[in-house]
Amino acid sequence: MDNQETLFTKIINREVPAKIIYEDDLCIAFRDINPQAPLHALLVPKQVLPKLSDSSQQEQSLLGHLMLTTALIAEQQGYADAFRVVVNNGEDAGQTVFHLHIHIIAGRELSWPPG
Ligand code: 5GP
Repeated sequence: MDNQETLFTKIINREVPAKIIYEDDLCIAFRDINPQAPLHALLVPKQVLPKLSDSSQQEQSLLGHLMLTTALIAEQQGYADAFRVVVNNGEDAGQTVFHLHIHIIAGRELSWPPG
């Protein structure tokens, strides 16, 4: 599963351009091409995991790292106090790219329920 080619691995490999705002050994974050708020970033693990529900105990530390990095990115972008974190899991939940990613959304009033 690790070497599966996805749109996001192409961004990781610089084969598709993106506005990258963060990168470390395990993950990368870039601006969503169709932003829903002033900050709309996608945080993506370099390891390909199609969706959150495909993860297991083996991914525990990676998933923890992604959560901590989400908060770090929100802070770095100036939105430490209010941001929304979304993971669409599965087609019926709105997932369109099958490479796990966390949406980090901030910079406007965010209503609830999200719809
Ligand atoms: P999903 O619907 O799978 O949760 O989220 C996929 C996200 O990827 C969408 O918000 C969509 O706008 C974004 N996206 C799709 N293609 C590209 C692309 O080529 N570049 C960037 N930066 N974002 C993309």
